[in-house]
Order: sequence, then C-alpha cells, then structure tokens
Amino acid sequence: MMAKHGNIFVFVEHYNGHAHPVSWELLGKARDLVQKLEGSEVWAVVLGDGLDSVCEEAIHRGADKVLYVKNKELNEYINYKYQKALVEMVKKYQPEIFLIGATLEGRELAGMVATELQTGLTADCTGLDILPDKELLAMTRPTFGGNLMATIMCPDHRPQMATVRPGVMKELPPDPKRKGEIIVEEYHLPAIEKLLDILELIPVTSEVNLQYAPVVVAGGKGVGGPEGFKILRELAQLLGGEIGASRAAVKAGWISDEYQVGQTGKTIRPVLYIACGISGAVQHVVGIKESEIIVAINIDENAPIFEIADIGIVGDLHRVVPALTKKFRERLEKRGEVKA
Ligand SMILES: Cc1cc2nc3c(=O)[nH]c(=O)nc-3n(C[C@H](O)[C@H](O)[C@H](O)COP(=O)(O)OP(=O)(O)OC[C@H]3O[C@@H](n4cnc5c(N)ncnc54)[C@H](O)[C@@H]3O)c2cc1C
Repeated sequence: MMAKHGNIFVFVEHYNGHAHPVSWELLGKARDLVQKLEGSEVWAVVLGDGLDSVCEEAIHRGADKVLYVKNKELNEYINYKYQKALVEMVKKYQPEIFLIGATLEGRELAGMVATELQTGLTADCTGLDILPDKELLAMTRPTFGGNLMATIMCPDHRPQMATVRPGVMKELPPDPKRKGEIIVEEYHLPAIEKLLDILELIPVTSEVNLQYAPVVVAGGKGVGGPEGFKILRELAQLLGGEIGASRAAVKAGWISDEYQVGQTGKTIRPVLYIACGISGAVQHVVGIKESEIIVAINIDENAPIFEIADIGIVGDLHRVVPALTKKFRERLEKRGEVKA
C-alpha cells in the first residue's frame, strides 16, 4: 500500500559519539504523532561516521528507520556542510515533517535548512500535534513575549519543520528488543566553497544543565540579592543538583538568564524542585509543574506557590535552607554518601 503521507524525520544531534537527549525526546514525540498519520514511519537522521551505536540506540528509542548519512567530514558540526547534507536527504526522501532540537546547533541548522528548502519553520515549540481533519502538524509556541500561545500550521510547503526545546517532550525508555532498519547513505559532500577552518574544538562546559538535573533548588526575589544564591548552591550541590531562578531574580541581575525557569526560561521536570522565595506566578509554574516533588519555602503563607507544592514550608529561606542543608548532610554522612 502506498503511504498516504511522507515520513517524520528526527535529526539526531551528537557530540563525541553521544546523542543529545533532546533527540530521544523528539523520537518519543514523533512516535506519538505517527499514530495519527496513516502509513508513515519515524526516521532518525544521523550524520557522521563511527556512529553505529547511536543509530542502534535511535531504534531502541522509537525510530522505525535510521538514515545514516555516512561521511567523516560530518562528525563535527559545521553548519553549511550539515545544511547541504540535510537538504539533499529531504529532497531525496521527501519527509512530511522534520523535527530538530532547539539547541544552539539545532536552532541555527533548522533555519538554514528551512531557508534553502523554502519551507516554513516554527521555532521553540512547546507542543506538537496532528490536526485530525487536515492531517497537518499543529505547532504550538509562546508568542508576544510569552503572553499568548500561538498554534501555527504550514499547509503549502513540505516538510513541516519545527524545533523543540530540550526537556519539553518526554523520551521513551529505551527498548533494546525494538527492531528497525538502518539505511546507510555513503555520502559525498558536493564541492562547496570552504567557509571556515576549525582550529580547535572546545566543548562548552559552562552550559547550565538545568533540564536534566534531578534536583533543582531555585531562588526568586525573596533571595534578596546575588549572595543569597550561595546557600541555594550549597544545598543543590549536596543533593547532586543545579540551581535555578525566577525571572524576577534574573531581571534584578542577581543571576544569569541561563538559570531562568518558566515560560520564557527553561522547562524542567526534576525529581525534586525546591522553590525558595518564589511567589508562584503562572509564568514560573508552567516551567516546573511536571516536577515529581515540589517543595516551596516562602514567608507568605498565602503565596500561590503553595497551591502546587507537595510540601510547603512557611519561613525565611535564609534560615530554612541552611537548616535543610545541615539535616541532609547529616543523613547523607550517616549513610556514607558524603564525607564528613
Ligand atoms: C510574558 C511573561 C513571561 C514571563 N516568564 C517568566 C519565566 O519564564 N519565569 C519566571 O519565573 N517568571 C516569568 N515571568 C514573571 C512572572 O510573572 C513573575 O513576575 C515572576 O515569576 C516573579 O518572580 P518571584 O516569584 O521571584 O518574585 P515575586 O513575585 O516578587 O515573589 C517573591 C516571593 O518571595 C517571598 N519572600 C520574600 N522574602 C522571603 C524570604 N526571606 N524567605 C522566603 N520567602 C521570601 C515573597 O513572599 C514572595 O512570595 C514572566 C512574565 C511575563 C509577563
């Protein structure tokens, strides 16, 4: 039977032989979407060489097929080379939908690919679905500075392209028994003008890994100043987590915007979220509501954050946070999990 639709492409971003988790999150979402597109399949697109284990993992994570575009020159991300390779693959295999992670790399690449293909791209989506009657991809994202949610369709051009921020979609647990096919494209880059030379690769180590931290201790206006984050950092480090912040704390200049959680910051789903001196505005809550356990510390017993908190502590964070750190440290020392 002829497929009624093209397939869903998911770009697999990798570094040093490891895929970025957002690629698996997108594969999970693509599995969801493909149920609503009769005859379509989910294809992971992997660029580079020596990436057999990444290809296999893509199948375990939900891909029906992996398009392995094999060329050593694609092992490191070079925007114009990746653009050429992906545009050619799209022209050859005609996907219906193309999903890319909204990472630094993905944001740039998606724009370049969409421009060359003259198709639409919705950047930074927070929701994806298939419209049942038209079978179009409905791409939802915040707009007007986060005050409105817009759902965007791309009816006339293909593929329908979207980028999605890391941590927004849920990855599927890997299933090592899942079977799929790896299509190897021995790829030769066309003669293209060399636009840049790579002298040295320096991994970004300062990137705040909030989306994947199991514990996030976040501070808001109640922290009182940049030095107030010190006690939050101590607690976060003890619990193997990261610190986060509300927009008010970021806007006050107390902490960099990489740490901002919420509608215009990062969406996170840690096991434990500790909100310190954060009132619980809707724009903040939208970024944390998937956390497994939410603890709120606030001097105001009527603060809205207590409505969504699993555990609420009414008190001054400058006293409560050090007391919690002390108690956690004592317990962890007793269990031999930290050194006294
Ligand atoms: C379009 C748009 C997008 C936005 N996006 C985001 C976003 O992504 N993320 C985000 O966070 N916000 C966002 N906001 C801002 C949001 O509306 C709130 O203004 C912001 O979250 C408030 O931050 P806050 O809770 O730190 O500050 P406040 O609302 O001022 O709350 C401070 C809290 O600290 C408590 N407190 C004070 N002292 C102490 C103490 N010593 N101990 C304990 N508690 C104390 C107070 O009781 C109070 O509840 C956005 C707003 C708009 C309009």
